[in-house]
Amino acid sequence: MNASLYIHVPFCVRKCEYCDFYSGVATAADIDRYIDALQRELELRFPQGLKPATVFMGGGTPTRLEARQLFRLGEVLRSRVDVSAAEFTCEINPGTLTPEKADALAAMGVNRASFGVQSFQPRFLRALGRAYEAGTATAAVVMARAAGIVRVSMDLMFALPGQTLDDLRHDLQRALEHGTEHLSLYALTYEDDTPLTRQLQNGEVEPCPEELESEMFELVGDTCARAGLLRYEVSNFARPGAECRHNLVYWTLGDWHGVGAGAHAMLDGEITANAADFKYYTAALLEEGKLPVARREQLGPLARAETLLLMGLRLTRGVELARFERFAGAGFNQLCGETARRLQDLGLLELTPTHVRATPKGLLLLDSLIVELASSLEAAV
Ligand code: SF4
Repeated sequence: MNASLYIHVPFCVRKCEYCDFYSGVATAADIDRYIDALQRELELRFPQGLKPATVFMGGGTPTRLEARQLFRLGEVLRSRVDVSAAEFTCEINPGTLTPEKADALAAMGVNRASFGVQSFQPRFLRALGRAYEAGTATAAVVMARAAGIVRVSMDLMFALPGQTLDDLRHDLQRALEHGTEHLSLYALTYEDDTPLTRQLQNGEVEPCPEELESEMFELVGDTCARAGLLRYEVSNFARPGAECRHNLVYWTLGDWHGVGAGAHAMLDGEITANAADFKYYTAALLEEGKLPVARREQLGPLARAETLLLMGLRLTRGVELARFERFAGAGFNQLCGETARRLQDLGLLELTPTHVRATPKGLLLLDSLIVELASSLEAAV
């Protein structure tokens, strides 16, 4: 399969309270310059062009760009990248989309819209510092569909301060009412150095009790299953066939290119990352004509196999044993057999002739499961 492509657009209307992604506010002139730099990066990276299997444009907020900038970005992309056969997803923040922007995305080749809704309830949106009104999600879905972008995914958050099971049920129902074929549901995490974490440390917000968070995790799974959306990754649900092919590339440690400030890439076990600094990124490309690479690291067999476990055990189908062996240079049973048998006895892990996977109980304890397997892997080599 051809390598995928990730495009990072690091601009937002304003910074959300919980966000630690590389993103910030910028002027229209900054964004024009960024598109110039992206053009240069595509020319340098893909002199012969690229035909990716999947494309994902994320951020930041790609739809923070003006419609004319999105049209131009589409032209820049088309000059080097053939997206005709790709699943092409764009992250959309409701409230920033207009019919013109939706048309620009469709012209670019976007065929899947991933809406960062987080909640349909104003009080939670306010607490998260999200820069849009609760009602705009519906309007944004209608605009995307009218432009021809029919595949719809939504991101919701749970375990929000003060959120009850009924609040979450309401959000899930609202999301499903939109004919959503894919849902991503993430428990709120308190990242270092974010305003929300400072509020937590100052006692201004109460974290969601652990027991309630587990009940919410179950409610999410049950509600999605009843609506025909199956859990295929610990936080992702889809109608059969509507799984996000791009994210499956990450979870199976496939190959992808990354362009834009802060974008990461993985090609045959080598990780590269562009500088997460808009000014450096544009200056390196436009003034010095060089790629703004800040990190380059070739993963060895052990690190590659460990990363595959870390990512792949998130999938309900688990990790393909043949792939593990190709990366590690030795079989899973040989390297992790003893620990795996113990985890199997505890009902946390399942081994089939082709895959190793976490059981539903194991998915709830995924972090510890991965730590145990990773330690046994390290001890075996
Ligand atoms: S819109 Fe997304 S990327 Fe931008 S600040 Fe909010 S969470 Fe972060």
